[in-house]
Amino acid sequence: MDVIVTDIAIVGAGGAGLRAAIEVAEQNPSLKIALISKVFPMRSHTVAAEGGAAGVVKPNDSFDLHFDDTVSGGDWLCDQDAVDLFVRAAPEELTRMEHWGCPWSRDADGRVAVRAFGGMKTERTWYAADKSGFHMLHTLFQTSLKYPSITRYDEFYSTELLVEEKRCTGLVAIELRSGKLVAFRAKAVILATGGAGRVFPFTTNGAIKTGDGMAMAYRAGVPLKDMEFVQYHPTGLPGTGILITEGARGEGGLLTNRDGYRYLQDYGLGPPDPWPRNKAMELGPRDRLSQAFWHEQQKGRTVETPFGDAVNLDIRHLGEKKIDERLPMVRELAISYVGIDPVHAPIPVRPVVHYTMGGIDTDIDAATPLPGLFAAGECACVSINGANRLGSNSLAEILVFGARAGRSAIAFAQANPHGSERAAKARADEAQAKIRALFLNDGTESAPALRRAMNETMESGVGIFRTEESLQQSCAVLADLRTRFAQVRLEDRSNVFNTDLVQVLELGAMLDVAQTMAEAALTRTESRGSHQRLDYPKRDDEDFLAHSIASYSSGERPAIGSRNVVITRSRPGERIYGGGGS
Ligand SMILES: Cc1cc2nc3c(=O)[nH]c(=O)nc-3n(C[C@H](O)[C@H](O)[C@H](O)COP(=O)(O)OP(=O)(O)OC[C@H]3O[C@@H](n4cnc5c(N)ncnc54)[C@H](O)[C@@H]3O)c2cc1C
Repeated sequence: MDVIVTDIAIVGAGGAGLRAAIEVAEQNPSLKIALISKVFPMRSHTVAAEGGAAGVVKPNDSFDLHFDDTVSGGDWLCDQDAVDLFVRAAPEELTRMEHWGCPWSRDADGRVAVRAFGGMKTERTWYAADKSGFHMLHTLFQTSLKYPSITRYDEFYSTELLVEEKRCTGLVAIELRSGKLVAFRAKAVILATGGAGRVFPFTTNGAIKTGDGMAMAYRAGVPLKDMEFVQYHPTGLPGTGILITEGARGEGGLLTNRDGYRYLQDYGLGPPDPWPRNKAMELGPRDRLSQAFWHEQQKGRTVETPFGDAVNLDIRHLGEKKIDERLPMVRELAISYVGIDPVHAPIPVRPVVHYTMGGIDTDIDAATPLPGLFAAGECACVSINGANRLGSNSLAEILVFGARAGRSAIAFAQANPHGSERAAKARADEAQAKIRALFLNDGTESAPALRRAMNETMESGVGIFRTEESLQQSCAVLADLRTRFAQVRLEDRSNVFNTDLVQVLELGAMLDVAQTMAEAALTRTESRGSHQRLDYPKRDDEDFLAHSIASYSSGERPAIGSRNVVITRSRPGERIYGGGGS
């Protein structure tokens, strides 16, 4: 087996991983960095982000307002020290991106343009047309290329962490081109592996978002935090789940039901003031809008499409010129995937799984409870997103906490030697043996069938609305699927680019992650943000103003504990958008 010795290993070359790598390279050029990614960096999901990144820049805005929107948007489950730090650092990071070449859209007077976004009570979302993630990732990727201390390992699939005497000392990865297992020995490791939307069947998330890093950390004894909070974005295209950015509503798009009625006014999000005075309605937070869709569906007021029920997103009144200037990709996607030109007709949309609020338990310095292991980006839970992330906070989060993870890893790597070579080899041999066993397993289970069953039970039992019964059922199905997974059979037993092997390993990760989502949701007998229990419709601050903490146990199910939320200055209150509260 090949052994690569580096100072800092970073798994994930999306926005968070690249930002962390650049920080390390800039702050301490003598540290060697291994940047490991299962796909070429530009194919990371960050590239798909459309709408933009939040950061206070307008004179009428303030850190306090961004803090308040984020904390109330997260239904008071955010750690307020983390949010404070985040809102202050975000504009600096976005400006730095500009200096590195990110082409932010501009107002006519040359200043950075900002657009409105859901749950943000003033315009603070920086954007590059509706291809913000694409431009940000390009900017980070090209910047990373100038540092000789960064060595890239593209198309390396990481399977597990090396842990020695309760410290993370590296990781194991498969070089996909050859099928060889490689051990990376590092003084510090940063996980920046993104979210896990693919545990659900209908998602905006790219096929690679399978929660691998979350599962790696979890199996190494690091808890996953707040996993029951899964965000549905209210406007995905029926059939494919392709995202129509919130920027479309930020620019003035309206949501109507089958009667052409702006139904959000019936769900405490009104009144329906004419644009642009309106700060709620269509610009209410995502959890509320997705839940309103569900109610409209129950009332039979949605629009039927060949791919299920939808509502209409209408941007016709913006006119062709503005649509082409601000929302070119929205037009392109609607024409290509639902055959509708939004200049002339409304776009059918429906809620779609979009973002994992929960993730690897970290503190505000991106440190996990396992010394030497750090995490940042969507795979981590700091937590600034609480029970419901506000749109455009994530692209800023990956920069702010990617950089912090880089700095924390530097400090750790400077203070600690490598783990022992012998222990690393022994652990890597065990990993190799597990993969061999998979190749030799003549079991009867098929990975696609298990995956479908997992997807179905997550949708039916752990969706927008949940009940004790639906969750109990999903938990039982998932426990059974994990048992059956031990009998999974590889169809392709070759070494070179074995995508079957990768998909089986991804499925294993997803089953672990899905289980933490369902079990944590079962334990939380209240409704908060994106977690809505039909049997417990009220928020219960007395018992549940706390993070859920899911720990790996050798038994069939994770152990679910809890930890207090950090509250510095905003006591839990009612979430009020437009005319009404909850
Ligand atoms: C369609 C879409 C639009 C969005 N729009 C916005 C928006 O406008 N504004 C906003 O704030 N947020 C938006 N988001 C959310 C935001 O884009 C993501 O949360 C964020 O980009 C995640 O960045 P990341 O660096 O954490 O992970 P990613 O960009 O997902 O990168 C993960 C990296 O980890 C690597 N990796 C994963 N597993 C392994 C493994 N086992 N071995 C090796 N490498 C591995 C991958 O190769 C990849 O390089 C959007 C999300 C989607 C899906």
